[in-house]
Amino acid sequence: MIFNVAQLLKAPVGTVQAVELDNEDALDLLDEEIQLTGPITGEMRLHRTNQGIFVSGTVHAPLWLQCSRCLKEFSTELAFPLREEFYPTIDVETGLPLPAPESELAFPITPHHELDLREAIRQNLVLALPIRALCHEECAGLCPQCGKDLNTGSCACQPDVEDERFSVLRGLLNGSEAAETS
Ligand SMILES: [Zn+2]
Ligand SMILES: [Zn+2]
Repeated sequence: MIFNVAQLLKAPVGTVQAVELDNEDALDLLDEEIQLTGPITGEMRLHRTNQGIFVSGTVHAPLWLQCSRCLKEFSTELAFPLREEFYPTIDVETGLPLPAPESELAFPITPHHELDLREAIRQNLVLALPIRALCHEECAGLCPQCGKDLNTGSCACQPDVEDERFSVLRGLLNGSEAAETS
């Protein structure tokens, strides 16, 4: 996840270097809530720009997610794009410090010319996590009354009670709306 880019920084603008993600040093920066089931993989392209280095590619992260309906954990692979700007903090030719760029979204390249993708991957992984994960599209979820996993069969609960309450509530809401508009 950490690449020495001294040579690329010396190369002319427009130079592209392809790198494979390796899993070294990857896990320690990941959220404790994110449990990977295997190594993060992907091919990244490092583009030399006049500002620094632009990284683009698709990251594949195998991980555990919890189903929002049945609450079971399941393993899946998340694929998400990575498009991030990195800027040098030290001039590779002179060794002198460089001013920070205008864009606050860019990541710094270390004084040893190392481009560390871990924090960029972590941030993009968190953004790529689904808000409502499903173990499979047809997941029946849990019975709201007895908590039985309805994927393993139905239960003896009567769902009518909930429905009645809901229709009474809806009636009340409609009534108040009607009162407001009249
Ligand atoms: Zn489920
Ligand atoms: Zn039930």
